[in-house]
Amino acid sequence: MAPTAYDEGNIFARILRGEIPCNKVHEDKHALAFHDIHPQTPVHVLVIPKGPYVSLEDFSAQAGEAEIAGFWRAVGLVARQLGVVERGYRILANCGPDAHQEVPHFHVHVFAGKDLGRMIKPRDK
Ligand code: 5GP
Repeated sequence: MAPTAYDEGNIFARILRGEIPCNKVHEDKHALAFHDIHPQTPVHVLVIPKGPYVSLEDFSAQAGEAEIAGFWRAVGLVARQLGVVERGYRILANCGPDAHQEVPHFHVHVFAGKDLGRMIKPRDK
């Protein structure tokens, strides 16, 4: 089951409180972006909203207009700042168990730096 209540002890909440360091790419009023600790691609950055949202549907239902706009603006700004716009990049958000979401604080992965292939790996349905 996907968690419904926000866990204040999750690793990204701890990063936001400054209890755990991160390799920061960008920070503003609504978002924090930092390099993934286990990069899957040459460029692998996580962008998280500062508010306590478990996943995208929680964020879209609970966050204010300024937070939502600010967060998505930050995702685009981070892509530009990383210099990946010309070659291209992929954003991805894992939400819930079937998507193997590990950290229950909404986040967007920004993958770039190589040919990423098409969409997700084909598997048996
Ligand atoms: P998810 O599977 O939830 O979409 O992805 C969580 C991501 O967070 C993983 O790619 C994982 O490597 C990353 N991660 C987990 N713990 C830490 C940490 O302490 N610091 C950083 N920078 N990334 C982390």
